[in-house]
This record gives sequence, C-alpha cells and structure tokens, in this order.
Amino acid sequence: MQSFSFTEEDRYNAFITRIDEAEYGEGVLSGIPVAVKDNICTRGIETTAGSAILKGFTSPYDAHVVTLLKKAGAAIIGKTNMDEFGMGTTTESSAFGPTLNPIDPERVPGGSSGGSAAAVASGMVPMALGTDTGGSIRCPASYCGIVGLKPSFGRVSRYGLIAYSNSLEQIGPMAENVSDVSKLMGVIAGYDRRDSTAYDRPYSHTPNADIKGKKIGIPKEYFGEGVNEKVAETVRDAISVLESLGAETVECTIPSMEYALAAYYVTCTSEASSNLSRFDGVRFGPRVEKKKQWHAEYRDLRGEKFGEEVQRRIMLGTFALSAGYYGKYYAKACTARANIKNDFLRVLKDVDLIAGPTMPNIAPKIGELEDPLEMYLSDILTVPANLAGVPAISVPCGKVTGMPVGLQLIGTHFNEEGVVDAAYAFE
Ligand code: GLN
Repeated sequence: MQSFSFTEEDRYNAFITRIDEAEYGEGVLSGIPVAVKDNICTRGIETTAGSAILKGFTSPYDAHVVTLLKKAGAAIIGKTNMDEFGMGTTTESSAFGPTLNPIDPERVPGGSSGGSAAAVASGMVPMALGTDTGGSIRCPASYCGIVGLKPSFGRVSRYGLIAYSNSLEQIGPMAENVSDVSKLMGVIAGYDRRDSTAYDRPYSHTPNADIKGKKIGIPKEYFGEGVNEKVAETVRDAISVLESLGAETVECTIPSMEYALAAYYVTCTSEASSNLSRFDGVRFGPRVEKKKQWHAEYRDLRGEKFGEEVQRRIMLGTFALSAGYYGKYYAKACTARANIKNDFLRVLKDVDLIAGPTMPNIAPKIGELEDPLEMYLSDILTVPANLAGVPAISVPCGKVTGMPVGLQLIGTHFNEEGVVDAAYAFE
C-alpha cells in the first residue's frame, strides 16, 4: 500500500471519487497512478456514470479492464467525471458539476470522458481510461491537448462497463503521449469470455514513426462545411509533416458521411433507451416513496434523478423504436450505417490510414453550447469511426488561439498499430 497525494487540488473537478490510499502491485504499470472513467465498475469504489441515479452505488465486481490494470500493477487513484451515462460532448451534463479544461478553465474539456482528459492534461495522472461511443475519448483528447485512442470494436472487453450504446462503444486509453497510450492499450486489449463481442486480438507494440511509403487518404468531407478554417489549416500542416517523413497522401471521399450524424443519433438513443430501463429503483437506483401504481414510482424516480439530456435521449430512442416508426428510423439508420462502414472499408483498402481533424473546432466556452442540436453537430468527424467499428486516434498537432487542435488518424479493423505509429510522428 502506498499513498499517492495529488500534485494539486482537483480544481478542474476531474474526479467524482478520489482514492488517496491507492494500492499498487508488480507489473508493467507498477506504481503508476491511473484514473478510470466513472462508468467503468470498480469493486468497493463507488461507480456513478455521472448520474444522480447511481449516487452511492458500489459494484460487487471489477470490470475486466480494471482487473487487468490491477494485474499490471497500476494504482487506481480515482473515478473521473463524465457526461451523465456518456451522453454529451462537453462533460457539462454530469450530475456532479462540469469539469474545467486545464488549458483554459473558462472552456469545456470536451466529453464525455472530460474528467479523464483533464486529469491527464493537468498532470494529476500520466494515463487514464475513457470510453468512446461517438468520440468521447477523441474529443476531450483533442480539446485538452492529450492523446486518446478509440480501439477497434471488440479489441477491448466491455465487461463491467455501464452500457450506453453497445454496438458503438469501446473502452480505450488516454495519456500525455503516444508511448503511454500504446502501453496502456497493451494492458487492456485481448480476449475475455465474459464479453461476447471481445476478439482474441491482444496488442503488443512499440511505436515507431517509420511511416515511409504509407498511403494516407484525406477525405474532403473532413475539411468541409462547419469545420473551422484555422483548425483545418493546422491539421493540413500536420499532414504535411507526415508527408515530409515519407508518407504519400491522396484525396478521397466518403459520400455517406452526410448520413453519419443521423445514423449515429438514432442508433445510440435507441440502444440507450433500452439500456437505461434497468434504472427503475428496483434493479438499480434508489427506491422512492411507495405509490399505489408501480409506474408512478418509476416515473417519479426517473423524472427526478435523470438529467435533461438523458431524458431527451430516452424519449428519442423510445420513439425511434416504437411500432410504426421502427422501419422509418431505426431500420433506416442501420442501412445508413452499413453504407458508411462500406465507404470506409473501400477507402481503407486503397490507403493505410485516413487523416483529418478530430473535432471541427477548438474547445467551446462553458455554457456556450446551449442548443443540443448544435452540440450533436460537433460530433460529425468522430462518429463515423464508431459506426464503422474501426480504430481512431487523436493526437495534438498544433494550436489555434492558444487552444489545442487534434489530428485524427483512422485505420482499418485491428490496425491500432498503424494509427499509433503515424501518431508517434508527433511525439
Ligand atoms: N458526443 C457523443 C454523444 O453525445 C459521443 C458520446 C460518447 O462517445 N460517449 O453521444
């Protein structure tokens, strides 16, 4: 047992739960403090997923990734703040207050893994776990100037993750630099019989920036309407660094990109509306005052404890799945998703990687994104990798008005090694 004291007070509200007396063991992460997003279950330590409905909930078991962290000797020093159930792009929808961006505390850190990103960016931990359903690792990595990797679908077990949208989300590493992201990925990747979607594809790779001869596709949709010009320019400059190292770039196109946001938001809200039905005060969540009708109890508890964004998404998802509308929305979203996946795989047959900005902008000011639709729009460049199930990394590549900009590199299924190598050029 060793006690870790924080290098500074948690003044960015990066943590929901802090563990000052963290245990550590022997292994590749021996003695390294690691922060874990609060939707990942930790035995004996509160897990809330950023929601008031889970305040006081302690899981009786560890998530698979937590077991692996412990085996590797890491010291889990806290559970990080997040948008409630992972629903958001700013960490403002947490029931535990917003997290501030350590680079500029008037701005959001991004979301939903904003607490993990702020914990790393402020130097409290060198690495952290996040989850990414539609960009929640890469967005905060981009806004806070750190590195974040969303693994291929199935490469990391999700056993013990509080599910938001099962067909899209992955647990992944976030760290100060590419080497640490790669190291943490090596610890968490691989088969787990308790997650039926987990593949037997462990990761063991030492990054090297030898990208000579690699072909990189630049989709025009990643530099289109809505992408801030200065951000686009910074990313183009970064891509020319890859060219100067011997990579060859080619223009390409992903025509189905225009359907990505619609397909994503119908899919994730549908899955969420089903996943969140377990928070009913009987299976999970506190019991409320006994009423005559059981549905009045459900309604009161869920109406009181779920935040606005969560309620909005449950309603959207329930509507999209309801009889008579299923074919119109959910089934269409599935078709659009298949087209997006096909477009990506077609392009990734001809090129080794796809490159573009992670986010269309720099971190907005706290409170700036009042309109949920406006917030959804900023996910346009991150959701496609989740819909296609392919790996994607965000690596800091420059600044615009003092705020970091992330370069996004996307590879084909299970080519985490390739995206890590290209990102390593910026280390
Ligand atoms: N911002 C996206 C959403 O709100 C992505 C969230 C995530 O990846 N968990 O759904």
